[in-house]
Amino acid sequence: MEIIARISRMQARSQQLKREGKSIGFVPTMGALHEGHLSLMRRARAENDSLISSIFVNPTQFGPGEDYKTYPRNMDQDRKLAAGVGVDIIFAPSVTEMYPEGYATYIEVDGLTEGLCGRARPGHFRGVTTVVTKLFNIVRPDRAYFGQKDYQQAIVIKRMTADLHLGPEIIIMPIIREPDGLAMSSRNRYLSKEQRQAALVLSHSLKKAEEMLGRGERDGEIIKDQMAQLIQQEPLAETDYISVVDSDDLTESTEIKGQVLIALAVRIGRTRLIDNILWKDPNSTKI
Ligand code: AMP
Repeated sequence: MEIIARISRMQARSQQLKREGKSIGFVPTMGALHEGHLSLMRRARAENDSLISSIFVNPTQFGPGEDYKTYPRNMDQDRKLAAGVGVDIIFAPSVTEMYPEGYATYIEVDGLTEGLCGRARPGHFRGVTTVVTKLFNIVRPDRAYFGQKDYQQAIVIKRMTADLHLGPEIIIMPIIREPDGLAMSSRNRYLSKEQRQAALVLSHSLKKAEEMLGRGERDGEIIKDQMAQLIQQEPLAETDYISVVDSDDLTESTEIKGQVLIALAVRIGRTRLIDNILWKDPNSTKI
């Protein structure tokens, strides 16, 4: 496995792979790898001749007062995990390599970025779409893999890729969870033992929503209310948002029809965690 820090070197390697007629699968990450990341890499490994993954904690997607400085970084461990699932090249540029002095260009996607995490984290998606565009231009992948864990991010990137004719096929993979239901996240490392237990309210509240939908409840407000009540019972948890939205355009669904995304963000101490489920009405004709 090769580790590349320079953009020029990464571009040359990608061009070489293309000349050899090899397809490129790409998994962008911020490192502190876990099974969620590895699941994307395994799928990408199976579907492409070569597999490139990036490890870059992207400063432009963190807001002031967020955890950019403390975000877990563990290159030695990441290197072993990536090699174990057959990554060919890790692209790990420095911040100045990606954003040299005088850097001034940003990509923005309207509409889809306005609700959910976009509302709670102003500027976050502008940072994400900018860095992903840059990474796509450097790596030139045929297919790029993203997790449903960050559902809004994945569909924003899908939209941007189509709108800007960036090229790669975007593949969205299911959420990998711990045995007790907690969605895997690099940020879970911040949690104390008590907080780790309290963090189960996210998946529990989504289970509750799923049960209500199964019993025929179709009022998004009632579902959000019940989820909020469940979260309130956990003293270490504070709700950031709970949303029930159409899974395609992310508009609020008061009356649930077709496929919806139920998504939430909850603070456990200073750690902000997100989780979601997709739910499809069994009577829906929408594919
Ligand atoms: P991150 O390093 O957090 O930026 O995540 C890199 C990629 O891994 C993103 O596409 C995430 O959606 C995906 N990812 C993170 N956690 C999980 C998970 N628990 N299950 C599946 N994919 C995940």
